[in-house]
Amino acid sequence: MAKVILITGASSGIGRDAALRLAGQGHKVYAAARRMDKLEELASEKQGNIFPLALDITDEASIEAAVQAVIQKEGRIDVLVNNAGFGYFGPIETVPIEEARKQLDVNIFGLASLTKKVLPYMRQNGGGRIINISSIAGRMTVPFGGWYNISKYAVEAFSDALRMEVKPFGIKVSIIEPGGIKTAWGGIAADHLEESAAGSAYEERAGRFARIIRKGYGGNLLSPASRIAKAISRATNARRPKLRYKTGTGSHIGILFHAILPTRWWDAIICKFLA
Ligand code: NDP
Repeated sequence: MAKVILITGASSGIGRDAALRLAGQGHKVYAAARRMDKLEELASEKQGNIFPLALDITDEASIEAAVQAVIQKEGRIDVLVNNAGFGYFGPIETVPIEEARKQLDVNIFGLASLTKKVLPYMRQNGGGRIINISSIAGRMTVPFGGWYNISKYAVEAFSDALRMEVKPFGIKVSIIEPGGIKTAWGGIAADHLEESAAGSAYEERAGRFARIIRKGYGGNLLSPASRIAKAISRATNARRPKLRYKTGTGSHIGILFHAILPTRWWDAIICKFLA
């Protein structure tokens, strides 16, 4: 049966690919982001199945308006895909707290606020699905990834608590944990890393890590966005969706090593290779 899906961060990368895939399966996809020109372009690829929706996930009024727009047209939201996010990489000492707040505003508080606004409609409707895009960075930590790691660890804890709370209402919560995925994400994270470390005691190590990120995201070793779009599709369509989907370059091995290695070993290995 065709589902009404609201997906954030649909103007680029994983969200864009997932919107196209889900619309191709016959679902009605409300594709949300700030860049409307990108969304209009996306909608023109699957006319009648993708509907652009203006959304700034850091703005309460914008979140409310986006949810109401879908409810007024469809009367329900069956699936919410919380995908919008970015990586503010940088040394903890030099990243301004204001910037750290922005990281959390987008990656966790925005996600939480949208979820809170959608939940009453899902309960009224007798069920629904919430799919939260976390990261390998929600299960393992790297130097200069601090605020991004904090935001994604928060997505993990938020999703785990929510899943237990909403189960009696027929609402299923899945977490997607992508490894390295070739999107605009890498360039944005590397830019922030270089800018925030410039002129500081961390500049050299941060610069090395930024170069590694750029090389990785510019090369062919990372997984395509379609890998995560497939996982989102499974979480949307499976009768019994998994609670966690680990997929994409390095996700299984990274999470496993972080879980089993003594912390001192993890620190030493990661710093040797990254910073
Ligand atoms: P992209 O940079 O390609 O896409 C990010 C999306 O988030 C854009 O559509 C952007 O839309 C949206 N976004 C950013 N800020 C806001 C905001 N304030 N309000 C609304 N939307 C916003 O990156 P990805 O596709 O790779 O990222 C998607 C998700 O996957 C993110 O949560 C990311 O953390 C996660 N992830 C990515 C990995 C990777 O290696 N690429 C690995 C693990 C997780 P716009 O600017 O138009 O608003």
